[in-house]
Amino acid sequence: MKIDLSGKTALITGSTAGIGYAVAKGLAASGASVVVNGRSKARVDEAVAKLTKAVPGGKVRDIAADVSSAAGCKELIAALPDVDILINNAGIFEPKDFFEIPDEDWSRFFEVNVMSGVRLSRAYLQGMLKRNWGRIVFISSESGLNIPTEMIHYGTTKTAQLAISRGLAKLTRGTGVTVNSVLPGPTMSEGVETFVKDLAKQNGQSEAEAASQFVKQHRPASLLQRFASTDEIANMVVYVASKEASATNGAALRAEGGIVDTIA
Ligand code: NAD
Repeated sequence: MKIDLSGKTALITGSTAGIGYAVAKGLAASGASVVVNGRSKARVDEAVAKLTKAVPGGKVRDIAADVSSAAGCKELIAALPDVDILINNAGIFEPKDFFEIPDEDWSRFFEVNVMSGVRLSRAYLQGMLKRNWGRIVFISSESGLNIPTEMIHYGTTKTAQLAISRGLAKLTRGTGVTVNSVLPGPTMSEGVETFVKDLAKQNGQSEAEAASQFVKQHRPASLLQRFASTDEIANMVVYVASKEASATNGAALRAEGGIVDTIA
């Protein structure tokens, strides 16, 4: 199978680093015209320079906008009125005891992880339906199924994404548009690297030891028994964004290393 997305425009929110960057790289390598997004112009410029080097001849542009607010989403939509592929990737996570999570954190998590995808889908889905082709992919998490006790607020937002994704897919009935979610498990993105570095320092371990112990201790059901790489997640996202994935719609696709112990 040769994935060819030439002629398609893809927006990946939060793509200056981590899974989002890997998805932008994968989509650009498949010929899509890619829009990199992040909050600061400097970070976005840096990511575009890196991406242009990684994918010579790739079509890459950038839009700096903070998708965690209605105003930021509006700015982004004004700069980019139409897309063929929307990857709702921007997301935040932070382990915190339930009793210590104030309302402000709940609201912030909901704005970044849920409302960004709602606002952008509301803006872009109608154009996709009119053109009779489009892809929306929500980057959820296995934490949306196995709610982690150390970050219940995060897990809740990831479950909400699954509901939105399934609901939106129902609006695409009989068209060439699909809406799906991808559920990564522990993935070695920049955000997680910082978390693992801190953990290693705290425990007097090497980073490799801390990473391996984290998966074994906190995700004992993992069949992969290690963190996934960002490229391993991006491969699934690029596939579901491709023309070839036309029969996959309304699905929650796992790339979580087998942590979730159910068959379907
Ligand atoms: P990361 O922290 O490494 O990167 C996130 C990117 O989003 C960065 O480029 C950051 O600048 C950007 N970003 C954050 N807030 C933003 C905002 N308000 N507006 C625009 N950009 C913003 O994150 P990651 O680990 O790659 O996670 C990406 C997505 O994958 C998230 O939705 C996360 O919940 C999900 N996920 C990650 C893991 C994991 O283990 N890394 C596992 C499951 C799901």
